[in-house]
Amino acid sequence: MNKTVKRIVVILIILILLPAAFLTINEFVSLNKNEEVIGRIYANQLDAILYSVNQYSEDIMNSWASKVDLFLDEVPKLKPKEVPATVDSFYNQLPSLFMVFVADSVNDDKIDLLGWDEENNFISVDYKHFSSEIHNLLEKNRDQINRLYTYMKSGYRKLEPVEIDSSEGESILVFIEETAHGENRITGLILDPKEFIYRILSPKIQEIARQEFVISVFNPEENFQFNSSKDFKVREVQQSKSLWIFPNYKIGISLVGQTIDDLVKQRALTNILLIGLLTVVLILGVWIVYRNIRKEVELAQIKSDFVSNVSHELRTPLSLISMFSETLEMDRVKTEEKKKEYYSIISQEANRLGKIVNSILNFSKMEAGKRQYNFVDSYLNDVAENVYRSYKFHLEHLGFIFNLTKDETIPIIKIDEEAVSEAIVNLVDNAVKYSDNNKEISIHTGKERNFAFVEVEDKGIGIPEKDQKKIFEKFFRVTAGNVHNVKGSGIGLSIVKYIMDAHKGKIELSSEVNKGSKFKLLFPFGSGKL
Ligand code: ADP
Repeated sequence: MNKTVKRIVVILIILILLPAAFLTINEFVSLNKNEEVIGRIYANQLDAILYSVNQYSEDIMNSWASKVDLFLDEVPKLKPKEVPATVDSFYNQLPSLFMVFVADSVNDDKIDLLGWDEENNFISVDYKHFSSEIHNLLEKNRDQINRLYTYMKSGYRKLEPVEIDSSEGESILVFIEETAHGENRITGLILDPKEFIYRILSPKIQEIARQEFVISVFNPEENFQFNSSKDFKVREVQQSKSLWIFPNYKIGISLVGQTIDDLVKQRALTNILLIGLLTVVLILGVWIVYRNIRKEVELAQIKSDFVSNVSHELRTPLSLISMFSETLEMDRVKTEEKKKEYYSIISQEANRLGKIVNSILNFSKMEAGKRQYNFVDSYLNDVAENVYRSYKFHLEHLGFIFNLTKDETIPIIKIDEEAVSEAIVNLVDNAVKYSDNNKEISIHTGKERNFAFVEVEDKGIGIPEKDQKKIFEKFFRVTAGNVHNVKGSGIGLSIVKYIMDAHKGKIELSSEVNKGSKFKLLFPFGSGKL
């Protein structure tokens, strides 16, 4: 690799690929951290939802406690079977509440009980056995009750669940209230948690969960589970908390469809894919920049080669001309014959010089798009024959077998005769330059499909397959084999290509190394500007 190109590659790697690589590595490293952060944010969100369900159920309980309290104030002395008028629809307002107890203090051994009769009337009931059970429960939880007293004194009525050993599955919530007469009263709400969940919590849970989450309330010991959506299992619950009012029960929440883990993983995967894509695009970009720079550097190299090639080509005729003219000037040539020979060499070399300069001027005109073409009705055969005639003597003098075969049936086409003969001359020149020992050149004309063609064939050194496309590029010269011994500027075939493009024609090349080459110039019938 060229030094300049190497330097550019290193700069590109440092400027673009290294930062990109650092960025990629950094992204990979921070991806895990990001995952954790996202996980935490989700967990907090789910927690907040669970908190709101808990808050809601506590609010409900507090409103029930107020209602029960109001009722108890209205009925200070409770007698069995007494039905107060105010509590007609009490049952409907407090579903799942199946009994209330009232005690004056923790030591009260005459605890009042209220429950529903068959007609849903809230009445005082006389279950002696249950009364003493509650009495024991209060004694057992004396500390907790005392704490509730303290809360109450500071103006805060707190509801707390009390643990109860029961096979019925009921739960008890206790609170302390100051009565209208200024005494303290311990009130207990005996509830059926399952009914509470189905009748009170369920609509709220459905509302919160909507399509995005599944919220479940479950009690693993009792194998109970209520879900906001069907087909959901306990083990799928991603996050759970105890229900404040029923500590044996838990509320859990999960995302519908995907777990947080899935979401985070999916996000990570998308990120990695994007980073991969970015890296590929960057590498592609670097490669394209590298390719362009390499082309530019190659072109610069080729141009400098061109200058040295042309100078070399100019130097030979110039030095011959100066050498022979000096000899003549000094009158050193004795015979007239020799003088004539020297004059002819000088004129030949001057011609050669003129041709080289002309072709360079022509080329630069074409490059600038300034060459004018004069398309006229012509016989391709005539153009080919003119070139053949003017070269025949010269080539045979150089030891070549030079042939022309014409197809007399090709129609008249519109071409710029001067340009086309220049193209053919360039091909013949090359055929001469790149022929080794097998000195045989032929020109053929003919027609195929809608094209008239002229073909220049040699039995020379041939062109390697890989270079066959490149030789029409400006300044390109094949660098393998013995080609370098031959002088040239690398513009002959580009001139041919320019001329053929102007005629909307094609060039076909078939060549084999050491066997020879065949350049076919094809002109469409009705070529040029009609
Ligand atoms: P140059 O001045 O080098 O001849 P051209 O553009 O005419 O420039 O040709 C480009 C290259 O193509 C040549 O350097 C040579 O390597 C190759 N080439 C052209 N014609 C022939 C041919 N008839 N046989 C073998 N090689 C050829």
